[in-house]
Amino acid sequence: MLDPTHLPSRNWSWPTAIRFGVGRVADLPGMVRELGGRNPLFVTDAALAKLPVVTRTLEILRAGGIGFGLFTKVQPNPTALSVEAGVAAFRAGGHDMVIAFGGGSALDAAKAVALMLHQDRPIWDFEDIGDNWTRVTVAGHVPVIAVPTTAGTGSELGRSSVITDSVNHRKKIIFHPIMMPEIALLDPELTRDLPPALTASTGMDALCHALECYITPNLHPMADGLALQALRMIRTALPRAFADGQDIAARADMLVASGMACVALQKGLGGVHALSHSLGAIYDLPHGMLNAILLPTVTAFNLPAAAPRLAEIAQVLGLPGADAGSVIDWLADLRRGLGLPSGLAALGVDMARADEIVEMTLADPCAPANPMPLTAKNVRALLQGSL
Ligand SMILES: [Zn+2]
Repeated sequence: MLDPTHLPSRNWSWPTAIRFGVGRVADLPGMVRELGGRNPLFVTDAALAKLPVVTRTLEILRAGGIGFGLFTKVQPNPTALSVEAGVAAFRAGGHDMVIAFGGGSALDAAKAVALMLHQDRPIWDFEDIGDNWTRVTVAGHVPVIAVPTTAGTGSELGRSSVITDSVNHRKKIIFHPIMMPEIALLDPELTRDLPPALTASTGMDALCHALECYITPNLHPMADGLALQALRMIRTALPRAFADGQDIAARADMLVASGMACVALQKGLGGVHALSHSLGAIYDLPHGMLNAILLPTVTAFNLPAAAPRLAEIAQVLGLPGADAGSVIDWLADLRRGLGLPSGLAALGVDMARADEIVEMTLADPCAPANPMPLTAKNVRALLQGSL
């Protein structure tokens, strides 16, 4: 863990410009200028907009001489309507860049707003399938500064957004390399007031990114390195950040680890995310919570194909037993310790829409990366087993 008595500020330039440091949000006006911005659109969600973390940040912009517009109509699990409204607000205010501020939903919506400003096709034409991304018009792209207030999705360091198609009730991954924010501002101070329940569910999402991508059979040793280090940091930091939100060293580790896990997930995810995308779209449930519930069951199902990789994780983390099974025990213990439900039934999920969920899960772009091949039969069993 980083030394809590000496948390330095650092500038990193991989995979984009990262400005890390406690209190670093004070540099936001300078970052806007650095990217040539004069009139950013500040995109966040309505609930967060009422909290001091936003009012203080807006005050920093004002004090720094930056005029800006405020767009807060981002839903949790944002839809194309959020994105269209954001595009309209950007044009109406004559803005020249985007500040994406908040949790995964706000960051994803804001990145999609920046993408869609100069497109003449509907957003679904850019779903991350095959070479759809080559359809994007790159000219006129406006810069984005991403400022996360949760340590989970890592969207601030990702090249995609998850947007819900509310007509077809599907979560779709919208992808283009220009969706990587120009600057990711990682200030652990901004995550300090995140309530324990959100710390737990978002943190489990980051853990899930690292674990799923480490055990997927695709070849990507760089991603593997990031995933293992992220797991190591999360193992210690997540219980600490949950127990004491003011533990700034734990908050710092979680923020860096969630970003690393997101960079790593270009290797591929797997069955947990395929299922949670379907469940999230149908039941409108929080992504991190779904992942936390699904993770132990899906990981146990993957044992026959992923045991050697899981054993490596156990050894790196120093888990008792140091074998694949000890990872599953750890995940279940961690979930319990974080006060998260152990079954989907607690969230109101049942088998009534199982056919639809199975079909959507098999069609999800994360499904093919799962270590064990997914079939209608075993996805149904996983859903049943996770209730
Ligand atoms: Zn996720």
